[in-house]
Amino acid sequence: MTRPRPMGRSPARLIPISGVTGKGPACFLLEGEGRRILLDIGVGPDRGAAPDLSAVGRVDAVLLSHAHADHAGGLHLLGAVGDPPVHATAITAAQLPREWAGRVNPLPLSGEIDLFGIKVTTGRTGHAPGGVWLHLAVGDGLFYAGDMGFESELYAIDEPPPAATAVIDASAGLDDTPQADRRSAMHHLVRQGDALLPVPAAGRGPEIALFVVEEICRKPSLCPELREMVANLCGPWRETLRAGTADRLSFLLAMAGSVEHRSPGPRGVVIASNVMADAGASARLLPEWLDRRDAAIILSGCVPDDTPVERVRGMGRAAVAGWNVHPRISDNARLLGALGARTAIPAFNGRVPPADWEPALAPTVAATGEVTV
Ligand SMILES: [Zn+2]
Repeated sequence: MTRPRPMGRSPARLIPISGVTGKGPACFLLEGEGRRILLDIGVGPDRGAAPDLSAVGRVDAVLLSHAHADHAGGLHLLGAVGDPPVHATAITAAQLPREWAGRVNPLPLSGEIDLFGIKVTTGRTGHAPGGVWLHLAVGDGLFYAGDMGFESELYAIDEPPPAATAVIDASAGLDDTPQADRRSAMHHLVRQGDALLPVPAAGRGPEIALFVVEEICRKPSLCPELREMVANLCGPWRETLRAGTADRLSFLLAMAGSVEHRSPGPRGVVIASNVMADAGASARLLPEWLDRRDAAIILSGCVPDDTPVERVRGMGRAAVAGWNVHPRISDNARLLGALGARTAIPAFNGRVPPADWEPALAPTVAATGEVTV
């Protein structure tokens, strides 16, 4: 059924700059109500991948969904589009490079702002600290997921308003493995022996640490970056969490060990940032763990090209236990139904052929190029 377009709104255009074909970083241009707005400006995940802004022209504003590099790592490129003002939640802004502190306009975690007369609604995404989806009241309504997760124990998720066009987080492709299966695979790998888990601190890291404590009943050692993140989450950033989880994180922080700057590092279960092991405590610990043939190295997410974790996997030294931080295909189908969407743009996945989306997301039409909103 087609909903009538709200009075006075003309059609808008959504132009994917990057993030739809191939697994490039997020960057979308919205043209509507006489304004030009960028949704996210990421780089990576593969080294050197960046959106081509050379033909974009001047932009009025940038809205960031969350602080992960593939969504917000391209702020240094904004000179090419006239250095527009950047909008993000306070928690996202706090995770951006230092030079952006105080230069970001606020977005609510869950609420509304007026941007040049366009109503922008936000809600939490269940994916990362401070992460929001964006709903823009242009044309028949545009929903932009950024990254979402429907199965997080930690991060809260809010229901979006209806939208005819939806950019969905299709990072997980057509996979429909429930988190319960992920958790039992992780349980099996971590229940005994020594294990190093390179994780993102601002994502599944705190959630996996909580799982190790609560479900496997082991005491993990956390790197300083992860400890700082957990302290923020159960302190000033608790609004990004599901109700009741801040106290569980406080307990985690009190009982977990620490990864200190000394060699050899701790044994047991060691959870350390960063996820690629090319910087931070995981990079420092990796050579030591590679020398210990009895110790497991457990990867739990996407493995970008040309990174230490990719090399470790190539050597056959890594165990892989995925952890759902993006929607399963059934989550996305349900989301599109709840939005009442007519057009879906499956983003952040370069592996699924365009024709394969439509049966999975029916009755929504799947688009991989420029669309009218
Ligand atoms: Zn993300």
